[in-house]
Amino acid sequence: MSGRLFIVGLGPGDASLQTPRAAEVLAQATDVLGYIPYVARVPERAGLVRHLTDNREEISRARHALALAQAGRTPAVVSSGDPGVFAMASAVFEAIEAGDPAWREIEVEVIPGVSAMFAAAARLGAPLGHDFCALSLSDNLKPWEVVLERLTAAARAGFVIALYNPISKARPWQLGAAFERLREILAPETPIAFARAVSRADERLLTTDLAQARPQDADMSSLVLIGSAQTRRIERPDGRSWLYTRRSLEAAS
Ligand code: SAH
Repeated sequence: MSGRLFIVGLGPGDASLQTPRAAEVLAQATDVLGYIPYVARVPERAGLVRHLTDNREEISRARHALALAQAGRTPAVVSSGDPGVFAMASAVFEAIEAGDPAWREIEVEVIPGVSAMFAAAARLGAPLGHDFCALSLSDNLKPWEVVLERLTAAARAGFVIALYNPISKARPWQLGAAFERLREILAPETPIAFARAVSRADERLLTTDLAQARPQDADMSSLVLIGSAQTRRIERPDGRSWLYTRRSLEAAS
């Protein structure tokens, strides 16, 4: 056995939604590596070395962490939400597969976290109560045609869809194109939710329908939830509403 490496899910934002195991391993780590805003969420302490990197450097960050582990340090690679969902855990294993064979001896512990789709769903009610899928709308790591194909197939198959990475400065038009495609497949009254910065100080939730959904209601910190034919909105007296997806297909028809 040579070396130890933690891959840690920090949860969606609020510290109370981080697992106790995540806090435990972050207290043991000698180094924290990750995208700048995520590393900033790890409490500073004497002796802890922070390695802040840009979001686009995932594989080199993974290699760096593996080299640190090999050298006898105990690095923690951090991601928001769950580290296995559109995040660093895959980058680390990709680096191991292609890298120094000795890296396969490193003891790797992946610590799960509350992914944005679960945090958002919990705020909204229970929209993921029946079959659902998660799709990253980013075409940085896959061609846009593939994104659109998968979105189309998921909508046709009746999944509730959790859209990660819906929009950014570099990808301004993709969410609008996605809504256009969805309007060809799903009913106009299909519930849509924009869940921004869930569990953070600047959290904002918006529930609407496919006919009225506007891309500008999402930003880089938002998860967009697309309902299915079984997804219902329960209006509340104060104007807010709950979103939930029925457990049974038959009962809904
Ligand atoms: N590993 C993360 C996802 C990283 S991809 C997880 O499991 O949640 C980054 C995307 O996640 C963002 O563009 C946004 O779509 C979503 N996201 C992350 N944190 C969020 C939060 N607190 N509220 C809403 N969406 C969030």
